[in-house]
Amino acid sequence: MNSLESLNQQIISCRKCPRLVEWREEVARVKRKAYLDQDYWGKPVPGFGDPQARILVVGLAPGAHGSNRTGRQFTGDASGKFLFPALHRAGFANQAAAESRSDGLLLKDIYITASGRCAPPDNKPSLEELNNCQPFLARELKILHPKVIVCLGRIAFERVLKIYAARNSVNKFSHGASYQLEHGAWVLGSYHPSQQNTSTGKLTAKMFDAIWLKAKQLAARK
Ligand code: SF4
Repeated sequence: MNSLESLNQQIISCRKCPRLVEWREEVARVKRKAYLDQDYWGKPVPGFGDPQARILVVGLAPGAHGSNRTGRQFTGDASGKFLFPALHRAGFANQAAAESRSDGLLLKDIYITASGRCAPPDNKPSLEELNNCQPFLARELKILHPKVIVCLGRIAFERVLKIYAARNSVNKFSHGASYQLEHGAWVLGSYHPSQQNTSTGKLTAKMFDAIWLKAKQLAARK
């Protein structure tokens, strides 16, 4: 087993945050009416994608009936319905649809992960829970050593800067802003493709396409 697989096994078996363990398992037991016939994942959700990726995408945390149900990042929820078509248009994914872990989706040059691995109530992990989960992200960054880190939302952005001990006061989050870290990798901020952002037009498909184009350009820099 390689280091990424071994890390993912550790993530899947983690029970460090009592509130989140209770919530993710309760949601998986009760289920949403539309998914009563499905087996929910109900565990921490590991990262997935191309282990040779130059670009790492960091989200917030699993949705209760999205990746907490399917077991794969952004799969089966409204954010994924916006994210994966954009990755497909940009040439990072072989298909736009992402419904389950066995849907045939393959990512190229992209690996997708999150700041927190367990679905939180109201989509809001506490600071303590994010801190508990941070070592997993730090290890992923060390193993994958990405050239570009696309942070979906302010929380992911600040978490990544915290791991690299970069100063937030200098590197402010904004959509499309990029910063080079001391070791040379780039951090690129993007609004999160949540339904709240996409349904209100805060994040449009055109704006999102520009992020993936910029990520490619940054990854190609020497
Ligand atoms: S959020 Fe992270 S640290 Fe907390 S239980 Fe889930 S995997 Fe473990």
